[in-house]
Amino acid sequence: MLKTYKYRLYPTKKQTEKLDWTLETCRILYNSCLVDRNCHYEETGKRLSRLKQQKILTKDKKNIEYLKSIHSQVLQDVLFRVEKAYKNFFRRLKDKSGKAGYPRFKNQGRYDSITYTQSGFEIIDDKLKLSKIGHIKLKQHRQIDGRLKTCNIKKEINRWYVCFSVEYTPNIKPIPNKQIGIDVGIKSFAVLSDGKVINNPKYLIYSEERLIKKQRWLSNKTKGSNNRKKAKVSVARLHKKVSNQRKDFQHKLSRQIVDNYGYIKVEDLQIKNMVKNHNLGKSISDAGWGQFVSFLTYKAEEAGCYVEKVNPRNTSKSCSVCGYIYKDMTLSIRKWTCPVCHTEHDRDVNASINILNTAGTAGINAWGVGGLPPTTNQEAPSERAG
Ligand SMILES: [Zn+2]
Repeated sequence: MLKTYKYRLYPTKKQTEKLDWTLETCRILYNSCLVDRNCHYEETGKRLSRLKQQKILTKDKKNIEYLKSIHSQVLQDVLFRVEKAYKNFFRRLKDKSGKAGYPRFKNQGRYDSITYTQSGFEIIDDKLKLSKIGHIKLKQHRQIDGRLKTCNIKKEINRWYVCFSVEYTPNIKPIPNKQIGIDVGIKSFAVLSDGKVINNPKYLIYSEERLIKKQRWLSNKTKGSNNRKKAKVSVARLHKKVSNQRKDFQHKLSRQIVDNYGYIKVEDLQIKNMVKNHNLGKSISDAGWGQFVSFLTYKAEEAGCYVEKVNPRNTSKSCSVCGYIYKDMTLSIRKWTCPVCHTEHDRDVNASINILNTAGTAGINAWGVGGLPPTTNQEAPSERAG
């Protein structure tokens, strides 16, 4: 299995110049390879293969001095990216019956990473040795467990990062024989079908509020002014920080859930987005929800647990005990009593129980994949299944 480790790099001024120069040279190479492919396609109607481009590049390297200053794998990776862009282009042509735009050229600053695909990099103490660039200071906040495969150097708002793709053998742990339904909370982050409410951490709420204030402060700055440029960088930094804090919280939460529950059901966001939602706060929380579900899914896959997505239709409106549908349910109703079976419901907990009891949207019983169907799952009344 592959895992990614991301660390901050602290290049010296000279190394930064070299990194920037490498990015810029790779960008130019990328664009010129695209031009070659476009011409070839227009003339012959066929694609120019990567191997052919590789041959051209090898010839060019003999004559063009500056290409020698970049590691051969980094150059090769540029060709891989061009190939990928072209594969997507051909796919679009097929989907749209021949009417797709050519792959886009990378504008200045839009080519923001380079990759050493196999070698040319090594961690030596607190430094990352990059062939043709140098020994760059590296802050390794967690130890790498596994074998290094690829090394990607990325520039994000004037900061440099390294992402290692690492091959590792996952620990085989028994899958917890417990199941849970999870609903997006209205005021909280999520509510579990066992009644547990998971709140957004206070530090995250605080940073988000600061970000809103700072964005307002930025919009008051004069366009084109130096102050505005500075403010923009500062807002982008805070934005990054908020996004990191959110990721961190979601990583920890998804880890906890996967460690405790073997069968997890969540709302299918794609279906949810088709339902018109005029509540802004709710749509923002839904945006973070997609990221959380993807963390949950890959962690579950690693651990051998199951995540199933269910159609969220009526999950808030139906009584999880008798199946009655409360048609006049609005977003402001937090608690309600079922007129048929008289059960008192907390809105979100009731919804998460319904999520747990709803069949998945995948069309197959995902629970059954590992041959471990849950035993406590009740058959959902038919009104709820649609
Ligand atoms: Zn009821």
